[in-house]
Amino acid sequence: MEVAGAVYFPKDAHFTPDRYLAALQSQCEKLGVHFKWDTEVTGLETERGTITAVETLHGEFLADEVVLCGGSWSPQLVCELGLKIPIQAGKGYSLTLPRPRELPQLCSIFTEARMAVTPMGSSLRFGGTMEIAGLNEDINLVRVRGIIKSVPAYFPKFTPADFAGIQPWRGLRPCSPDGLPYLGRTAKFSNLILATGHAMILEIKTHAANSLESNNTTCPDVAPNTFRMPISFVRCSATNAAKPNRPIQAIKIATEEKITDTMFVFCSAT
Ligand SMILES: Cc1cc2nc3c(=O)[nH]c(=O)nc-3n(C[C@H](O)[C@H](O)[C@H](O)COP(=O)(O)OP(=O)(O)OC[C@H]3O[C@@H](n4cnc5c(N)ncnc54)[C@H](O)[C@@H]3O)c2cc1C
Repeated sequence: MEVAGAVYFPKDAHFTPDRYLAALQSQCEKLGVHFKWDTEVTGLETERGTITAVETLHGEFLADEVVLCGGSWSPQLVCELGLKIPIQAGKGYSLTLPRPRELPQLCSIFTEARMAVTPMGSSLRFGGTMEIAGLNEDINLVRVRGIIKSVPAYFPKFTPADFAGIQPWRGLRPCSPDGLPYLGRTAKFSNLILATGHAMILEIKTHAANSLESNNTTCPDVAPNTFRMPISFVRCSATNAAKPNRPIQAIKIATEEKITDTMFVFCSAT
């Protein structure tokens, strides 16, 4: 392997998404949350600046607070309310080898190939590409082949044959124009909270929510670039005049996942 250099981030972390979500679900259920699966939201009813009901294919739900977390589909969920949330879907793909010929202990980012490699238990995931193609969820095999082709340049023991029969996964990253998510209450509807636009940074969602717990925040539909949190993930107005004492509840998650560090690897041009 010809490596021109690398940057080591000892404080970076990773986890296995399905374990994370299972832990999140279980914690939520312990707190009394009921999940309604396969229940598509079809509209939101409003009255005098509040959301009064969420309409779904399985009936209507009344709620005091409504959180918009529809990922790339968020803009279309609220456009009828006159809210404009600039989000583009950025399609990415991943391939997970259940028994890789080599299992690195560290995550790495293949910088030139723009790929992330993550060990997950005994399997190894290669993920990457950013395809702007609207809400289209088709799998573009040219992109998938691009991922497979770039692996041996960084991990020479791997060959394209290692990926034979591996089903590619695809997902739509909800991308905002400047890469920051939309987190906080809208100014137009006092009980509507935005939690969307996380693009490639789902993992910060929990940390950001924890910070929101101690910050009363208001975000207009197209938010001004005023940041309150030290990590600047929230675009917010300076005060929450409409609802001063309504912090957002955050849920702390323990996944027992082994946390390790990440390497950004740069290949030499040759
Ligand atoms: C290839 C790839 C690799 C990635 N790697 C990483 C990584 O290593 N680390 C990281 O932190 N992040 C990563 N991400 C990004 C991460 O997946 C996203 O940030 C995250 O999924 C965003 O979560 P979300 O809940 O906001 O949106 P989504 O996961 O898109 O969830 C939105 C949900 O809303 C549902 N929905 C939409 N419309 C409706 C409706 N009308 N009614 C009901 N439900 C609806 C959708 O079905 C969907 O389930 C990666 C993404 C991709 C594509």
